[in-house]
Amino acid sequence: MANVHEFDVVVVGGGGAGLMAAMNASKTARTAVISKLYPVRSHTGAAQGGIGAALGNIEEDNPDWHTFDTVKGSDYLGDQDAIEFMCREAVDAVYDLEHMGLPFTRNPDGRIAQRPFGGHTNNVTGKPVRRSCYAADRTGHMILQTLYQQCIKNNILFYDEFQVMDVLIVDGKAAGVVAVELATGELHVFHSKAVIIATGGHGRIWEITSNAYAYTGDGCAVVARRGIPLEDMEFFQFHPTGIFKLGILITEAVRGEGGILFNAKGERFMEKYAPRIKDLASRDVISRSMYLETRAGNDVNKQRFFYLDVTPEIVNKYAEIDGRTRPDGTPYRVTAEEIMSKIPDIADFCLTYLGVDPTRQPIPVQPTAHYAMGGIPTNKFGQVVIDEQNTVLPGLYAAGEVACVSVHGANRLGTNSLVDLVVFGKHSGLHAAEYALGADMPSLPDDPTGFMREQIDRLRAASGSENVATLARELKVEMFDNVGVFRTQAGLEQAVVKVQELRERFKQVKVTDTGKVFNMEMMQAWELGNMLDLALITAQSALARTESRGAHARDDYPARDDANWLKHTLAWMNGDEISLGYKPVVITQYAPKERTY
Ligand SMILES: Cc1cc2nc3c(=O)[nH]c(=O)nc-3n(C[C@H](O)[C@H](O)[C@H](O)COP(=O)(O)OP(=O)(O)OC[C@H]3O[C@@H](n4cnc5c(N)ncnc54)[C@H](O)[C@@H]3O)c2cc1C
Repeated sequence: MANVHEFDVVVVGGGGAGLMAAMNASKTARTAVISKLYPVRSHTGAAQGGIGAALGNIEEDNPDWHTFDTVKGSDYLGDQDAIEFMCREAVDAVYDLEHMGLPFTRNPDGRIAQRPFGGHTNNVTGKPVRRSCYAADRTGHMILQTLYQQCIKNNILFYDEFQVMDVLIVDGKAAGVVAVELATGELHVFHSKAVIIATGGHGRIWEITSNAYAYTGDGCAVVARRGIPLEDMEFFQFHPTGIFKLGILITEAVRGEGGILFNAKGERFMEKYAPRIKDLASRDVISRSMYLETRAGNDVNKQRFFYLDVTPEIVNKYAEIDGRTRPDGTPYRVTAEEIMSKIPDIADFCLTYLGVDPTRQPIPVQPTAHYAMGGIPTNKFGQVVIDEQNTVLPGLYAAGEVACVSVHGANRLGTNSLVDLVVFGKHSGLHAAEYALGADMPSLPDDPTGFMREQIDRLRAASGSENVATLARELKVEMFDNVGVFRTQAGLEQAVVKVQELRERFKQVKVTDTGKVFNMEMMQAWELGNMLDLALITAQSALARTESRGAHARDDYPARDDANWLKHTLAWMNGDEISLGYKPVVITQYAPKERTY
């Protein structure tokens, strides 16, 4: 018999979204956090660049401009009611973090420093605006540490290294989750009135990725198996500046600080593709430009990479050409020391992994799978919605990268994920606690661990010759080549066939470790199953969408098609079959316009 625990609110995930949700829920509800990782190891800790909020500490800015930039960045697929809400709340969210003790980098006058980031503009002049609040290049790390300290102070209960494998839904309402305790292999039932899923993204389904090993999409897969649709899964952001071959992220802040991209001919190629904001164009635009440069034979050594140059000579030369100034109006010029002080961790990565000192040499970079715009559909209170009419599933919530509110639409702007975590983490926590106050404890199903045991038993029983690492490698290469930066009908069809083949072969996967204590081989096999499910949903959603929008770029349908495709995809999984439905985009102030750069 499994161990049974009872709470009002159970939060799955100890990253930025999960901790924010737990902190707010725990004000009135008995709350627990369940996390497969020790919470401060969550991927939020890897966020470098910053959190966007229109504080206007350095120059004029306001939440309406942030709203418009986010709508435009989303290629008009974001829901504008949710975006307005997020951009307004962002300002207080940053001050809340400051008051909790987050050590932001400061201006000389003591206020929170801000720097420019791709796609964030002064809506009057069209020039980049300094909106990203940061703590050197360790912003996410600082958010995670700050929130974790607050959670400990508030006596929130943590179940660390417990992996959730199923969510319980009884009479159409959430009733808890089922998890395995990794240290012992024991099963635990967390019986609760409300569940908040905050399990992060799934970038590990691509070969080159900036994402943590834990990003296997567990939360999405678990709810999809329970009949809940996933929204806009075809939209996955490729960040243009991953370290060549490794995918490790070089933050956009390097370009914010004046870094310039060059092709094999030494040309500043972004001038061609985004004549106004050039190297600060949004990520999808730069990733696609790199693809086009590669196709034109302009990649370095014909190896699909480019150079990102942040040496003082180059930064100063192009700052002069672009007429860039400091906040006080003096010309923008930097020294190697200043660059080092702004991006210490990046410099460290470059030295460690490439032997490159970024203050003297350019950094070889290529697009890397970075961020899931799609995920579990929710409204702006974090409530999970399950159909085209946005019907709420009572008691079930999702927040953070796993959720699709949708504030990022077809493409997320840099610094907007950390805002999303803090704002929607907070509101899902508050809403879930309020719901729990008014709800009775749902009954548990007769055999709450049944479905989870079935999944484990299937893996234990499979005694074929297939190997987890081989299948994972084949999946990642296929996804990177055919469901990556650029897509075609033939490539997507091939990917669907390949993923289906891999799903068949997965039934013959062999798990050699039969032990109970930290059986990570078993968990990796289960995670591969999740990745295969999400890959199939992604490829099929992408195949159906015959247009190019944001991060979804079809070679065969290069134009955005608002007449037919200004709508969100919903994908349901029924065994091996995926069925698709669509729901309208919420438009309040901004009618779709062509994007200009
Ligand atoms: C390298 C990098 C740099 C980035 N930089 C920025 C930036 O500068 N600005 C910005 O806005 N965004 C940035 N992003 C994006 C942003 O950091 C993430 O989208 C965000 O941190 C995700 O937070 P989260 O709380 O949703 O998930 P996470 O922080 O990843 O937390 C997920 C949690 O879920 C738990 N979990 C997962 N599966 C299970 C399971 N089955 N059972 C139990 N627990 C589970 C994990 O243990 C973890 O605690 C960056 C992302 C990367 C990868």
